[in-house]
Amino acid sequence: MNLIEFKNFSLIKYNTLRLRSVAQVCYFPLNIEGLSEAIEKTQHQKRIFLGNGSNILLTKEHYDEQYAFIITTMMNNIERNGPEMIVDTGVTLHDLAWFAMDHEIGGYEFCEDIPGTAGGALIMNAGQWQWTISQYVRWVDVIDLETKKMLRIVPEEGFFQYRYSKFNEMNVVIARAGLSVSQGDYREILERMLEFKKERYFKQPRNYPNAGSVFKRPTKNNETFFVWKLFDEVGLRGFQIGGAQVSQKHPGFIVNVDHATCGDCAALISECISRVKNHFDIDLELEWRVIE
Ligand SMILES: Cc1cc2nc3c(=O)[nH]c(=O)nc-3n(C[C@H](O)[C@H](O)[C@H](O)COP(=O)(O)OP(=O)(O)OC[C@H]3O[C@@H](n4cnc5c(N)ncnc54)[C@H](O)[C@@H]3O)c2cc1C
Repeated sequence: MNLIEFKNFSLIKYNTLRLRSVAQVCYFPLNIEGLSEAIEKTQHQKRIFLGNGSNILLTKEHYDEQYAFIITTMMNNIERNGPEMIVDTGVTLHDLAWFAMDHEIGGYEFCEDIPGTAGGALIMNAGQWQWTISQYVRWVDVIDLETKKMLRIVPEEGFFQYRYSKFNEMNVVIARAGLSVSQGDYREILERMLEFKKERYFKQPRNYPNAGSVFKRPTKNNETFFVWKLFDEVGLRGFQIGGAQVSQKHPGFIVNVDHATCGDCAALISECISRVKNHFDIDLELEWRVIE
């Protein structure tokens, strides 16, 4: 068996905001063959590829049969192969970091606490502080959704940018990637990973469902701004619509404090964008992907 199919499937566990939404059609490939089969079966539907749903906003409470959700979390094989790790698209960054540590491979400590998959991370060029996933990518295998053929992409300079990759301009799905390997020390890796996690839990509102930073850091006249500082100045900290709230603890996050709906989140985002535009003449750009 390569592919599992569900009808009328609740997406609540497949978006970290924990919004209630149902997909009429949903597939879980177990491997690359299953991913190809899912692509074949959904030729006439709007395909929505998801990893862990940790950077998305669902906008509908019901996605009818015009949509097909293809969720990759069961494609989760990872292995070391000489100078690289070969990682299926649905491997979580958490598992990647622990696998690297077990094999004394350094550099992946920043991944441990980012709750996405390898595929989602490559699309978003996920990272924190000075590290991004792009620094470790040797090649990426994708399936071209037009020709249905597998292609190997070796990213060149400029392919990855801040929370963005050129995969977004290509009609492809990510299948697996080859990541670089460099020697690390087991104890040092473990200490760094736990230190990063501690620091993030101190700062972030991890006690409520959320999908990470909502907006990219905006720039105006070559100056970069922190979203949370802008929000504090326009009174958005703690501002709530329905069950969705601009976090009290860290206003760069929107949290689901009380059964938020897709509509609550969308309305709160619009309010944030318009207050910042009116007050500072700054255009906010969403880091989240909106599933319309
Ligand atoms: C508490 C918390 C902390 C976070 N901290 C960070 C952080 O420090 N740094 C950071 O960069 N991000 C952070 N994030 C955001 C998020 O975890 C990352 O962007 C992550 O890489 C998204 O991966 P995902 O698998 O959840 O992607 P999803 O949310 O499932 O999808 C994101 C996008 O990628 C597309 N996609 C997913 N898989 C594939 C595929 N195989 N092929 C083609 N397209 C695909 C989806 O269609 C969607 O457009 C955080 C989120 C949370 C909830």
